[in-house]
Amino acid sequence: MRLPSDLDYIELDLARERWLPPIDGDPDPDPNDWPDPGGGFWASLYRALWDAWGDPYWWPGRNAWECAAGAVLVQNTTWKNAGRMIPKLRETGSGDPASILAADVDELRSTLRPVGYYKTKTRKLHELARWWLARDVDGGGIDGVPDDQLRRELLSVWGIGPETADDILCYSFARPWFVVDAYAVRLRQRILGSDEIPDYHELQAEVHGQVTRHPLVMNHLHGMVVNLCKFVCRKKPNCPACPLRTQCAHGRRALVVDTSS
Ligand code: SF4
Repeated sequence: MRLPSDLDYIELDLARERWLPPIDGDPDPDPNDWPDPGGGFWASLYRALWDAWGDPYWWPGRNAWECAAGAVLVQNTTWKNAGRMIPKLRETGSGDPASILAADVDELRSTLRPVGYYKTKTRKLHELARWWLARDVDGGGIDGVPDDQLRRELLSVWGIGPETADDILCYSFARPWFVVDAYAVRLRQRILGSDEIPDYHELQAEVHGQVTRHPLVMNHLHGMVVNLCKFVCRKKPNCPACPLRTQCAHGRRALVVDTSS
């Protein structure tokens, strides 16, 4: 089933270019080959969204570096805006960490200008590229490095916070870490009918405790939450079109009001 209003998403060149990192030694993992997501609250959301819409095709990019660069570029902007930068960087010969470092800084800033905070993001890409090359990520340098250690290293890179680190862990390195974002917080509030704003790591621990810790499960769950909140559970939610309406406190209230008016 197509998303109800997904034309913007589908029309982005990158949307169907989703790349999956090798998982458990499989260099070409099947996105449908995920284990039972578990029995907790977040697992029930996972099942309902997957049954309705299937693969969310997340995260756009052709390789690990492009996914990581996208995670930096999307900070403080929309994906629609950030996603256009990935092919632009390719076209301008800055599509990999070595060429980012070799590029003329003013030209790189000029390329990144449309994405906002372009000077800061140029520096962030530089810092991440330096770490990437020093770690020999593309040559297998992080194989076998424990998740926690890798996460600490990413967080020590200038400009990389928890959300960006988890984007990279999950989508570039196939480590089973859930990405918490404003969408996940909003969805939790509405489903539970609560105003509570959980701390990043509290919400991440909640999801990790309720959903099978598998790279594809974490990959799909974040992608499905993004799609749901971009297209249905927006600021003004479209509850009648939502696959979670029977599980959601806000949705149930909205539907009662709607049918009784
Ligand atoms: S039912 Fe409505 S409020 Fe609840 S998750 Fe769906 S769109 Fe959001």
